[in-house]
Amino acid sequence: MHTLPKLNYSYDALEPYIDAQTMEIHHTKHHQTYVDKLNAALEKYPELQTKTVEELLQDLSAVPEDIRGAVRNHGGGHWNHRFFWQILDPKAERVALSDELKLKFKNAALGHFGSGWVWLVKGSEGLEVMTTPNQDSPISQGLEPVLGLDLWEHAYYLKYQNRRVEYIDSILNYWYK
Ligand code: MN
Repeated sequence: MHTLPKLNYSYDALEPYIDAQTMEIHHTKHHQTYVDKLNAALEKYPELQTKTVEELLQDLSAVPEDIRGAVRNHGGGHWNHRFFWQILDPKAERVALSDELKLKFKNAALGHFGSGWVWLVKGSEGLEVMTTPNQDSPISQGLEPVLGLDLWEHAYYLKYQNRRVEYIDSILNYWYK
């Protein structure tokens, strides 16, 4: 069974960048739902239940076709959010980022249509910025994320409404204040 990880900080720890109510709903409702739906998808495949979410996502072709989409979406949602909580930790170490990469990250986030994530990943040629749609995770492409930002409206709507640019700027300022 996959479980919702505890946060190492309180829901109001990221104020004023991310408000406590958004954090609480995001963690206890949205993330919990990804975990629950991942477990539900795996119910009829006991042999997959011992695999970590990384193992599932890194080899989606090995997942039976009838649940592959669910594992991709909900397993991805679980992994992406668990990673997100870690990099939002006030005590987490930040990867050094040039102004150029920060701008690339911001522009990629702004240019991404609809729900998804913007990432900074370690690829074969060093640090790269990319986005993924929905809950697709870069680890399914063999990449190692070092930074990721949730671009779903549920991540910012209560505080920022439709002002995605303010949300992106605010999180970058939080990480690199
Ligand atoms: Mn989210």
